[in-house]
Amino acid sequence: MKKSFTWQLMVMLMCFLASCRSGSLSRAEVDMIMSGEAHVPMRLYTINQKSDSLLLRTPARDVKKKDIGSETIEHLSKRMLATMHDTLNTGVGIAAPQVGISLSIICVQRFDKPGEPSEVYYNPKIIEYGDSINSGQEGCLSIPNYRGTLGRSHNIEISYLDALGKLQTENINDFTAIIFQHEIDHLKGVLYYDHITGGFGSLVYIEEY
Ligand SMILES: [Zn+2]
Repeated sequence: MKKSFTWQLMVMLMCFLASCRSGSLSRAEVDMIMSGEAHVPMRLYTINQKSDSLLLRTPARDVKKKDIGSETIEHLSKRMLATMHDTLNTGVGIAAPQVGISLSIICVQRFDKPGEPSEVYYNPKIIEYGDSINSGQEGCLSIPNYRGTLGRSHNIEISYLDALGKLQTENINDFTAIIFQHEIDHLKGVLYYDHITGGFGSLVYIEEY
């Protein structure tokens, strides 16, 4: 009797866990992603709301390689791009935690490529920082009305999985390198003003921005 009860309990627990997360995403995250069409922006998470802020400070999980190209991840990528291109609040980069999905995905506008396309990267990591530092202004879709001046590496080497799940490495320079550093920070729960409060740069309030 006890043994069968234990087995029943284990089966129930396994079913519960399966309903909570299938692959890279939880059931609630899938529902959130699929609640709108691909061209519809998602709600932007900002530091102004406590629950949003907590998620923005949580390190993102890696995307499972087998899920890259799946309907849900493709849909999420398109909705992240729609959010980044939203005319109400246009950005040059976005990370999945900024739309409430704690997963390692970023979109970056490639100012270093012809036509300046916006591209999607899975599990991006910075594997080398160059010594040369550029100081410049940054803003963040999740930190409304502020801009800050801070230093970032002029050139970086990154690794990521592409749309086919293949591991790629790439050297990135200039402004595009700044965007990658800003967005990859988001995946670690780091916001740009953390670098400022670390003692370098300044933060200013801008009423209309
Ligand atoms: Zn940001």
